Amino acid sequence: MLSVREALERTMATVREPQPEDVALLDAHGRVLLEDVVASSPLPPWDNSAMDGLAVRAVDTRTALTQGHTDPCADAATGSATGPWLTVVGTAAAGHPCPTPVEPGQAVKIMTGAPVPDGADAVVMVEHTHEESGMVQVQRTAAPGQHIRKRGEIAHAGDAVAFAGTILTGPRLGVCAAVGRATLRVASQPRVGLIATGDELVAPGKPLKAGQIYASNSVALAGWVREAGGVPVDCGHATDCVESLSAAFKRAASCDVIVSTGGVSVGEFDVVTDTMDALGVCLDFWKVAMKPGKPLALGTMGERPVFGLPGNPISAQVTFLQFVRPWIRATLGMPNPYLPVVHARLDFGMKKKAGRVEFVRVSLQWTSEGWTAHSVGDQGSGNPLSLARSNGLMLLDSAEHRLHAGDRVSVQLLHAAGHGAATPGYPW
Ligand code: AMP
Ligand code: MG
Repeated sequence: MLSVREALERTMATVREPQPEDVALLDAHGRVLLEDVVASSPLPPWDNSAMDGLAVRAVDTRTALTQGHTDPCADAATGSATGPWLTVVGTAAAGHPCPTPVEPGQAVKIMTGAPVPDGADAVVMVEHTHEESGMVQVQRTAAPGQHIRKRGEIAHAGDAVAFAGTILTGPRLGVCAAVGRATLRVASQPRVGLIATGDELVAPGKPLKAGQIYASNSVALAGWVREAGGVPVDCGHATDCVESLSAAFKRAASCDVIVSTGGVSVGEFDVVTDTMDALGVCLDFWKVAMKPGKPLALGTMGERPVFGLPGNPISAQVTFLQFVRPWIRATLGMPNPYLPVVHARLDFGMKKKAGRVEFVRVSLQWTSEGWTAHSVGDQGSGNPLSLARSNGLMLLDSAEHRLHAGDRVSVQLLHAAGHGAATPGYPW
């Protein structure tokens, strides 16, 4: 049997270069950037005001009250506070620069985001000024540069503001828009062909005959494919014979990676490896020392990897998460394609035999002492409810383990947004 690590190394050896694609900003959310996005001009492009107020020469405000001190006699509403009077020579609004420079003894009314006029080197907030018949009194001293956002203070021309290999979130897309980019070079999404195998499978919605069950693996895996950043392609259902499965593999031929579930064990009707042989698929391995999910095949059809995952719903999903998901993420150009791991405090006890790595489904909850891992009950690999209740997979290495409540354990996070977090409702 291969170790999980060896199986993963062999899987990752089939990862290919990400394929570039240019997409409009509004279509790029969730995609993986394939370029460093560089500011072509300074951001912000000019000095501008951070406040609504008055653009002044700082030196003209020296005789006003010092910032931070209150004048016991001051009354801003009547203008009785101490401070110099300046002549208003213009107004600067966002998108409307004021062409008139500020000379000694003068000021320009300025709004947030408006370019700072020539001659001015500080902005006094409107709350610290008092206007009367074309004159304005400045009631606080201003230090040079005060309330001015300097040209290039966020990024200089040539600075990288978003990076290859990162997922485009809303804030990152906002940054790309702020430097003027209309399209971005992203990784094209691998098409993942999904094949269900088994004579017993029936599509949901149809009546069940004796011995039949509803097919659920392809639907569950399609969700994981989307989460990973790929495009699921349902290539249908094959019965347990080489002809039917060969036809399904052929339907999947245009996909970048093929994933079948079921039929990969040593049962009499497990035809995946025979079908791979018949189709000339070069088979790499087929048993991995892990639980759930021991029988597992990886082959290559030309350049394309073909994963034969086990049929039990949990085994199918856990092996997908450990092997297919990293393949998809690496093929998207992500430098760390693996699920994030957190440390948690176990709140139950369990025993595990030596021999195989185990992935134990748990429900992680956030508490004042960090993450706590709770049991989700039955760990049978045929019980899909357990994974539906989980947001983490506890990692237990191949040694024998006796775990007790309170032990520290490592858990892969399955849902970044923290499904099942402990405190419902708004935190403040
Ligand atoms: P197999 O790996 O084909 O021996 O299947 C193992 C178990 O998983 C059997 O109980 C199958 O009925 C079940 N199974 C296989 N494929 C699916 C599927 N697509 N949806 C739900 N259960 C499945
Ligand atoms: Mg089967």
